[in-house]
Amino acid sequence: MKQVSHYIDGQFVLGEGSRQITVTNPANNEAIAVVNCAQDSEVEAAIASAKKAFDSWKETPVSERARVMLRYQALLKEHHDELAEILAKETGKTFEDAKGDVWRGIEVAEHACNVASLSMGETVENVARAIDTYSYTQPLGVCAGITPFNFPAMIPLWMFPIAIACGNTFVLKPSEQDPMTPQRLVELFEIAGAPKGVLQLVHGDKTAVDILLTHPDIKAISFVGSVGVGQYVYKTGTDNLKRVQAFAGAKNHSVIMPDANKKQVINNLVGASVGAAGQRCMAISVAVFVGSSKQWIDEVAAEIGKVKPGLWDDPDAGYGPLISPAAKARVLSLIEEGKQQGADCLVDGSNFTVDGYESGNWVGPTVFSKVTPSMSIYQEEIFGPVLCCIEVDTLEEAIALVNASPYGNGTSIFTASGAAARKYQHEVEVGQVGINIPIPVPLPFFSFTGWKGSFYGDQHAYGKQAVRFYSETKTITARWFEEDIDTAPNMTIALK
Ligand code: NAD
Repeated sequence: MKQVSHYIDGQFVLGEGSRQITVTNPANNEAIAVVNCAQDSEVEAAIASAKKAFDSWKETPVSERARVMLRYQALLKEHHDELAEILAKETGKTFEDAKGDVWRGIEVAEHACNVASLSMGETVENVARAIDTYSYTQPLGVCAGITPFNFPAMIPLWMFPIAIACGNTFVLKPSEQDPMTPQRLVELFEIAGAPKGVLQLVHGDKTAVDILLTHPDIKAISFVGSVGVGQYVYKTGTDNLKRVQAFAGAKNHSVIMPDANKKQVINNLVGASVGAAGQRCMAISVAVFVGSSKQWIDEVAAEIGKVKPGLWDDPDAGYGPLISPAAKARVLSLIEEGKQQGADCLVDGSNFTVDGYESGNWVGPTVFSKVTPSMSIYQEEIFGPVLCCIEVDTLEEAIALVNASPYGNGTSIFTASGAAARKYQHEVEVGQVGINIPIPVPLPFFSFTGWKGSFYGDQHAYGKQAVRFYSETKTITARWFEEDIDTAPNMTIALK
């Protein structure tokens, strides 16, 4: 059985913790690895080592920091398929989907190579007579990242490459459900030539998180995960006077106008709703059919019903199992509530299984119509392969529905009308909007800008905002007296 390691003070160690977490294959729930949760003293040792490393890393020239990232992104590309295989085996994702997870993380590591231009300050000459003001960015110190199970490569890579490129050091606490992918990311970072102590990896759960949230030497916390934990992390971190960015849950709507390209709508909704078993914070979980587009619901349901979940290495699998038996039980109970609360279950994946893997966390594609906002399948983030269809009469009604949601991560509109798209993009209270694009995740030169209950904080992940999050700005106002030139003896000689 593989033992997952922490990476503390430049050493991969199994840890002395007595509490163990078993990592399982979601396709059959057999154990594939075991991790000792970091003890308090181990988390503290990681923080202390990161603090020590900060002294020299913050003085390392920016081009040298960027070169570590250049080597790192090249190594990630070289090991792309290997990482995707580790990831697929511990999450159950299909190989194609796992490759996407790794690739989107690599793009952030590429972005971190631009740190010199991204961290340039501002200058204004003569803010008053003979006075200039200019600003620098400087790193914060030790930053920490707490990441979820659903993107074990991409989300750690949202965080530590940019934080470290900015001159910080970093402690990563990844999800305990799939810790092997992050471990491999950290091994490659060491090979890329990062100095000892700059990146630390500790495994565990709430106990380790609580130390990071309260430790005086942690200056900033990046969190991605569920709503309740996100709120807890934001409140506790800020209570302890830390800078916090917390990305939380979502319920993303796609609005289908009657003039939309029907074929594109159907194709796009299939992948966006049940792809990755719906375990994406940007999954489309609600389709809002405006006016006569409701006639397409049966066709959408029929196409989604054709998707077959399967094993990670089955090229015909549409998606894999859910991450755990608990996740499956939660999704099944929400499907049951949907039926009891009066929604029409057009496709029911509750009893789906894969031959030979009956003990896996399978849920088949599921589609409800006649969903109303009071139903729990509408209110809860299901985080499973379930699409809820709602019918409204007008675009205004669709916008009002989306804006009434407590979440604001992503949304999309399908239409052939520029005016409808413009109105939607302008009025919708959601941070990432797709126009005829179902899942509008921005590339890393923009930022990942969720709103409302999907994000607590100010500066978002990657793009310029992440550089601001991981930096302080120092603003200098300087005046030099011309008459002093004459009083400095050496200068007088030089000028003569
Ligand atoms: P989770 O909240 O259960 O876990 C996230 C992290 O928090 C893990 O590292 C976990 O160990 C830790 N944690 C769990 N419980 C804790 C507690 N009580 N106190 C302190 N730390 C705790 O989330 P998950 O199930 O791993 O991930 C799925 C969730 O993440 C979904 O809600 C999804 O929408 C969200 N997510 C959001 C985004 C986004 O950008 N908004 C991106 C990906 C995932």
